[in-house]
Amino acid sequence: MPELPEVETIKLSLEQEILGEVINRVKVLNPQIIKKPGKKDFACRLTGLCIESIERRGKYLLIRLSGGLVLLIHLRMTGRLFVTSPERELEKHTHLVLVLSEGRELRFKDVRRFGTIYLLEDYELKSVSGFAALGPEPLGGDFTLHLFARILSGRRCKLKQILLNQSLLAGIGNIYADEILFNAGLSPCREAGTLCEEEIARLYGSIRAVLREAIKLRGTSVNDYVDGRGRPGAYQNKLEVYRREGKPCRRCGGKIMRLKISGRSTYYCPQCQS
Ligand SMILES: [Zn+2]
Repeated sequence: MPELPEVETIKLSLEQEILGEVINRVKVLNPQIIKKPGKKDFACRLTGLCIESIERRGKYLLIRLSGGLVLLIHLRMTGRLFVTSPERELEKHTHLVLVLSEGRELRFKDVRRFGTIYLLEDYELKSVSGFAALGPEPLGGDFTLHLFARILSGRRCKLKQILLNQSLLAGIGNIYADEILFNAGLSPCREAGTLCEEEIARLYGSIRAVLREAIKLRGTSVNDYVDGRGRPGAYQNKLEVYRREGKPCRRCGGKIMRLKISGRSTYYCPQCQS
């Protein structure tokens, strides 16, 4: 699933391609992915608008349009959003095509169909529950060590659960939660409230370092993820624990193990993480 580094990479790559373009035609091939408004309204309101800016918040992508409207997109498990020439064959599972002024197309493809798209006025963003409840951006200036210590303080749940909780911290999913905890040398099962000051600082540093490095390498392509130009990322070559069950730990040589936390596969090194 695309997480913060992947969505940030899609944002950066789309910025280079589609800023200033006008949406000339809207083809809704599968209305199921459009949550608001209805299919006809969606196409009608979107046609003729100009793409003014692109933002990311957590795992959401926001395409801001002329007239104060915004396309709010969540790629969920297998969603892909990319620019292509109209000559490229329309792939199976393409649900939406926006024909742009320069002739190219912005396509949304999603094999699993869990992705969601809203077309909203800016003030309506707070009515989308998952979006409105997002916690701080882990790479944002307001996410301080002090704030992170407050988030962890007194909590009985496991570190893995904390990192995955979008209302506590926005944008981290299963891949980076595991990589961050390995980087920090902390067990995914540790109760959040038991961390000492030094461990909190280490985890805070790992969150920022791992996410920054993953953005630099343009994300992790283990499943479907490609950027806004259809190119894969390179962070999969850096993964220390994620999907490495049974393989030797690159730090200590021990075996990487897998367990389930809240139904999610969790990879860790029992020797390096405590
Ligand atoms: Zn190890």
